[in-house]
Amino acid sequence: MKILNTEKEDYHVHSLNYSDGLSTIDEIARFAGEIGMKKIVICDHSQAALDHNKYMKKSYRGIAARWKNVFNDVEILFGVEADLLNEKGDVCMHIGGVEGDFIILSYHAGVYTGDKTRVTEGFINAMNRYSKQINIIGHVCLDLGEVQAKKVILEANKHKIPLELNAKYFFKYPDIWDVLLKNADRIYVNSDAHTLYELKEFRKKVFDRLKKEGYLKT
Ligand SMILES: [Zn+2]
Ligand SMILES: [Zn+2]
Repeated sequence: MKILNTEKEDYHVHSLNYSDGLSTIDEIARFAGEIGMKKIVICDHSQAALDHNKYMKKSYRGIAARWKNVFNDVEILFGVEADLLNEKGDVCMHIGGVEGDFIILSYHAGVYTGDKTRVTEGFINAMNRYSKQINIIGHVCLDLGEVQAKKVILEANKHKIPLELNAKYFFKYPDIWDVLLKNADRIYVNSDAHTLYELKEFRKKVFDRLKKEGYLKT
């Protein structure tokens, strides 16, 4: 098992501009520099999730391309936390018609609700169809339980797709991640931050714990 990112990189941060984060892209970029980070992927919820949650309509996503980080040298990328839509593996990977440059595929009950076996089938079909576009599989340990999560993890390994160790849920539900740490070939540790506090604290706590448990060299 290899952890692909360092503490200075976070690939899953939500913003106020495009979904349910509480800070703007400007605030996130500036703060990331202040805490010594080097790379942030603004990975907001897909249009399917925005519609399901009835979030108010935000600025046209295409203008994100015009945004420039004028504060520091933190690299900012615009991704989408794509949604699994059914067991066939259909995926919504856009916001307002604009696809992300980085895709995390997640399951959010409500956007699509299936039993664990069907959701697993959906993830496997999605990976077979979109392995080139999917950069990370999101918080499956949270959604699927050990038995089904393991199936998704092994399929992701086959496609060389990394999986997410989601720092937010790592602390809420500490016992569900063993299946990931034991079986995944490639892991990203992401905060899934919706606030600046989460961006700073959650990821750091997970990295500290991984070091303590011998998963990372100190
Ligand atoms: Zn959210
Ligand atoms: Zn999510």
